[in-house]
Formats: sequence, C-alpha cells, structure tokens
Amino acid sequence: MVRSIVSVLLLCLVMQVAHGAQNNIDGVRIWPSTDNTRVVFDMKTAPEFTYFTLKNPHRLVIDLNDTKDSFSLSDVENSGNLIDKLRYSTPKNKSSARVVLELNRDTKPSLFAMSPEGAYGHRLVVDLPDSAPQTLPSLTASTSSVVLDDSTSVRDRDIIVAIDAGHGGHDPGSVGPAGTFEKHITLSIAKKLESMINKERGMRAIMTRSDDYYISPNRRPEIAREKKADLLISIHADAFSQPQPRGGSVWVLSMRRADTELGRWLEKSERHSELLGGAAEVINDKSSERYLTETILGLSMDHSMATSHDLGNKVVEELKQVTSLHKRKPQAASFAVLTAPDIPSILVEVGFISNPQEEKNLNWSKYRERLATAMFNATKRYFKQVPPDGTLWAQEKANNRTHKVRSGESLSLLAQRYNVKVSSIKAANALSSDVVRVGQVLNIPST
Ligand SMILES: [Zn+2]
Repeated sequence: MVRSIVSVLLLCLVMQVAHGAQNNIDGVRIWPSTDNTRVVFDMKTAPEFTYFTLKNPHRLVIDLNDTKDSFSLSDVENSGNLIDKLRYSTPKNKSSARVVLELNRDTKPSLFAMSPEGAYGHRLVVDLPDSAPQTLPSLTASTSSVVLDDSTSVRDRDIIVAIDAGHGGHDPGSVGPAGTFEKHITLSIAKKLESMINKERGMRAIMTRSDDYYISPNRRPEIAREKKADLLISIHADAFSQPQPRGGSVWVLSMRRADTELGRWLEKSERHSELLGGAAEVINDKSSERYLTETILGLSMDHSMATSHDLGNKVVEELKQVTSLHKRKPQAASFAVLTAPDIPSILVEVGFISNPQEEKNLNWSKYRERLATAMFNATKRYFKQVPPDGTLWAQEKANNRTHKVRSGESLSLLAQRYNVKVSSIKAANALSSDVVRVGQVLNIPST
C-alpha cells in the first residue's frame, strides 16, 4: 500500500477537486495508539482542505471546502485521551465546513488525503503524534505484565518474546474473498500464542498491539526493544491476486537490508546507547566509539540473523505439521518490521487469506490454535537449546548434564540410567514425542 504523505504548511491548500461536486463527511474514525492518534474522515470525494492550530486550549481547526456539515460529530467513538472533543464551528464561508478537534495536549498534526483503496473510499487522514501515555486498558495490562519483579534476580529472568499481530486499526491488511480481515486473524493468533508463552515457566510474552489499533511497521521493533525482548515474531497472512496460492512461509531479514540498517544505526550516534546498553557509557573516546559501535553492532546483527534463521527453520518444521508450505525454507526479505539489528526477528505468513479454503481455515479457532502452537513449540525448542544469557533457562541448562544419544538408546533407557523421569527429560528438551535420534544432544535435568 503506497501512501503519499503531503507535507502541509499552515494554511496551504493542497488537494485538487472537481469543482461543483459537493463533498460530504460520510464517517469519522479515531484510532488512538501509544504514540500517535489517527483520525480518519471518510469523504464522498477527494477532500480540499486547509488547517491551523490554536493554543489555550489546544485546538486543531480544519476547513473543508465545498463540504456539508451534516455528519454528527458527537457520536464519534473516542477511546483515547488526546482528543477531548470533536465539533463544528462557524465556517469561513457558506459552502465550507469547519471541524474543530479540541486537544488535551500540544501536538504537531500532519494531514493528508488518501485515495480510494480496497474497502475504503476517499479519506482525509489526521495524524496527531503524542508522546504522553494513552490509557488504553488492554495496552496497560500487557505493559504491566512486563515489569520485572524486583524479587527476581537478573540471573534468572524470563525469556521475553515480543508478538506482533500484523496490521490493525485503519489498516485491515489483506482481505479474503469472503471478507475476512487479515488484522483480525493475526491478532487472534497472537493472543493464543501470548497465553501459551505466559503459561510457560521462564518465558513471558509482550504484545506490540493487543487490540484493534494502528501501529506503524517501524514502531513495532521499537516496542520490542523497549520491552527488552529476546525475540520478535510478527504474524501475517499472505494474499495474491489469484485464488490458487496457498500455504505458510517464514521470513527473515535479508542480508542487503541488514547492511543498510546497520549503516543507518551507525549514523544515529544518539541512539547507540540504546543498542549497546551500558557499553556506550564506557566508551569515552569518541574516535574509537564508532569503531567499537560498528564491531558490537555487527556482532549483534550476526547473532540476530543466525538466530532468526535457526528459529525460522524450526517454525517451518512445526508449521508443516499444520499447513502446507508456500516456501520450504525461511525466506529473506526487506520488511520494516524485521529491521532491528539487535533483536532476532521473524515474520510468519500463516497462509493465504486470498485462497478460499485457507480463508475458511483461518476463520476456524481450532486452526488458529494449531498455528499458534506450531510457533510456540518452535520458539520453546529453540530457547531450550540456546537460552539467552541471564535467563532462568540458561541457569537450568548450566546445571544440567548433557548426553549425546548413541545407537540403541531410548528415552526410557536414559531415564533409568540418570535416575530421572522420562517426562523431565522431555520437558528439559521441549520434546513432543518419545523419539530420539542418534547424535542428538539432550539436556539431562539434575533432579
Ligand atoms: Zn500482512
């Protein structure tokens, strides 16, 4: 989806309209999110508009030329706390409408028109960047669950998995032939995955969004970083212009995009400390700072990419037990959500919503549950093998012995030999069956 964002100066007229055709506001939608509130005016034809801001109290005033003020603004649903009120005011002339947004805080609005696309017609989009926290109940709930308990030592912290439900709010993602929105499917799978992870001792899930609102693709990895995530899983559903393509696929950051991103991060020296943690303060010498940053960032990126590939392979293995595969190996791509140099990130396309059968499957709760289970099992298997430093799982692994399976050995035989339960060995290795193969290295729990 290509969006032309027109930079608008105060009182600068932008859009061209067919004169004489009177415009109308058909609907108004408000999408509050953590750092931006978006207001969308559904218009009959392309909007011709000017705007200005006022202080004491803060207001955004929009003049819509050649537009009727018949739509009732008092009924617009407003769950955020940036916009206090939406109302009409005396227009500058008889044929125009003046809309006033009463704001609780100062903000630098940006306004642009969008042409018809998919289910939507002409729109006037108002973006209100907002750094003050929103009181979205769902968001508060997921945030509070991430706060580390003071009684927990840093040596046995939880592994934090950031789950990103693709799209949301005014962005429905792809739309299936029967009218299913991708944004609803991704959120449902994300929530199922979240609850599986939160039930697992030593793991914790955080959500980039836990409701139907818009977050820009660039903001999503930032949320994962703020929550100190060890991994980011972005969930999407594919679509194609033809109904035939089907199956899931897994995507990781491409090498070329990785290089570009590395360069971008190196340029932003003010953000180095964000990536390097405490290391940045230790580096006092400015001339060697860049070199060290490059080295550490490079290593971090290598690690992220290796992890992403490894985990991507595991997700593919698990997914193929639930769905057919569109691609049998993780694919490299340049997606904005996969650009974190320091957080291993994968994007899972759970299937083609444009395929009528897969759309039907995706609408089935049990099927979404299976997809979430596949991602959960893969994640768990990966972290059992390579638990991040400082986590409970890393500590447990350090206490465990390992055993390399030889020909003729079974789980029950090993359980007997090490005097532990079969179920404990399975749990320590996230095994879903009793089958082990020769050469496999198993963690043997100490108790
Ligand atoms: Zn998508």
